[in-house]
Amino acid sequence: MRRPPRAHGPRGLRFALPPRRVFEPPSYPNVWFYVSERLAPSQAAAVEFITGWLRDHCGIADDFARFKPPEASDSQARLGGLQPWREAADPGRRHAHDLHIRYYYVALRQNGMDRVVVTDAGLAAAERRVHRNAPGRGAGREGERSAYRRFAGSVHYEVEDEHPLHPYVEDCPFCGRTGDYAGAEDLFAGVHEPLGLELLLYGTIRGQPVSRPDGRPVPGLVGLR
Ligand SMILES: [Zn+2]
Ligand SMILES: [Zn+2]
Repeated sequence: MRRPPRAHGPRGLRFALPPRRVFEPPSYPNVWFYVSERLAPSQAAAVEFITGWLRDHCGIADDFARFKPPEASDSQARLGGLQPWREAADPGRRHAHDLHIRYYYVALRQNGMDRVVVTDAGLAAAERRVHRNAPGRGAGREGERSAYRRFAGSVHYEVEDEHPLHPYVEDCPFCGRTGDYAGAEDLFAGVHEPLGLELLLYGTIRGQPVSRPDGRPVPGLVGLR
């Protein structure tokens, strides 16, 4: 069994992620949302804040036209109709793409893992540097602690759900094992997952900005800053 990844946040924040056994899905969640308790006093409020923002600002919504296996998730959503690949020689391989995310929160709450207190060691160190010429000042920030409500997601980029070839087309220049991803061992973990993270976080695929079908850009979570 693989250990959960040790995640580092901005300014060296350290996040102790829950063990693999908390999750039933086949792969460990690849994105974690930590929302300050100052913004969200409960996990439900954190889920509404983030998923609502992604719905309203990025168009990531539950609009699946058919049953979609939850894979132990508590809800899921997508942004469809992206980057249509119209140049495929075989018309049957032409397809648009989904950014698909599954959200996980109930098991975390049931296991008492939805609230975390993070020691902001990075901030304390920065404060010490700022105040190194003024002994005493800033010392009170050593190990400052902040409380967060958290939940997880599993995000990937793939052939649209409605297409007969969903989820994989190996030679697609957008979602396939091509370009910088030509050497990926696993098409899901090595291509679809990192592309999904890139789009969710930065609004790009392979460095190129992605537009929604109506032409609006996908801002990505960096838009929250
Ligand atoms: Zn999917
Ligand atoms: Zn594709």
